[in-house]
Amino acid sequence: MTTPILEIHNVSKRFTKRLDLAGKIAARLGSNIREETVHAVDTVNLSIHKGEVVGLVGESGCGKSTLGRVVAGIHPATEGQVFYEGKDIATMSPEEKRAATLAIQMIFQDPFASLNQRMRVEDIIGEAPLVHGLVSKAEQSDYVDEIMTKVGLDPSLKRRYPHQFSGGQRQRIGIARALAVKPKFLVCDEAIAALDVSIQAQVINLFMDLREELDLTYLFISHDLSVVEHIADRVAIMYLGRLVESAGTEEIFDSPKHPYTQALLSEAPRLDQRHREFTPVKGEIPSPLDPPQGCHFHPRCPVATAACNADRPQLETFGADRLVSCHNWKE
Ligand code: SF4
Repeated sequence: MTTPILEIHNVSKRFTKRLDLAGKIAARLGSNIREETVHAVDTVNLSIHKGEVVGLVGESGCGKSTLGRVVAGIHPATEGQVFYEGKDIATMSPEEKRAATLAIQMIFQDPFASLNQRMRVEDIIGEAPLVHGLVSKAEQSDYVDEIMTKVGLDPSLKRRYPHQFSGGQRQRIGIARALAVKPKFLVCDEAIAALDVSIQAQVINLFMDLREELDLTYLFISHDLSVVEHIADRVAIMYLGRLVESAGTEEIFDSPKHPYTQALLSEAPRLDQRHREFTPVKGEIPSPLDPPQGCHFHPRCPVATAACNADRPQLETFGADRLVSCHNWKE
């Protein structure tokens, strides 16, 4: 077995909302105001091999974007380790860490918000490769042209500003900015969700072409199961900060084992309706400020038993490459 390009080992991420001055005074005076901790990601393990596209799926608020940001180094993990090419990023030398930071790039949902509107496109794309010594000042302009062409943008427009482009073109600028530092691993966080449906297919095709051409690996975060089914080799399902199931895309869609995966699939629009006999997911996702004991899914699970309320199910491995976290998945 080859070393995964990326390995997430027992990663948790919590955000604590500190009390402001008024809150501190109120707490001293006996109010029950307390600091609040959001359990965004809870002990997640995941391995991704070179060249794979792994789809990370779950409802809004399940922690998938936070996990993507931990992988991309935007948020430090509260606990656990992220390994890049077999090395724990936290213990790398400064030079190794810089290389890993460049190798793992993130593409965001909203290209308008993620691009500096006061910068020309040539600077948005060309700044980082110059700063990191990947190109010289003399090479920078040609390099920007090359990257723009690669993502389907006309290089003659490089002196324009982001607002002068359409939504689809702005997302291509975001992709070009990421590609400019020669990454090996892209974290795409709902990268097509803000685009018109007609443009989504074009951007998905671009991602797939770039994968072939540049030998890229993707963590593709999406709430849209039909998109993930189309592009992912493997799918990981998250619920309230935890990974509940992971398997090859065909296996997940043909025979989901976890009740939450089954519920998600029962709601996903599919051309093939053969696997729609599951019960749709009911109820609201609980607050990550106060997640339920035991299995986080038990208040909504149609097959919960007494053990589900008390004990956290562990991720079990079965088959060639399947993981499931449920006390009752075999039944
Ligand atoms: Fe449902 Fe229990 Fe499995 Fe959780 S552990 S998904 S509550 S059956």
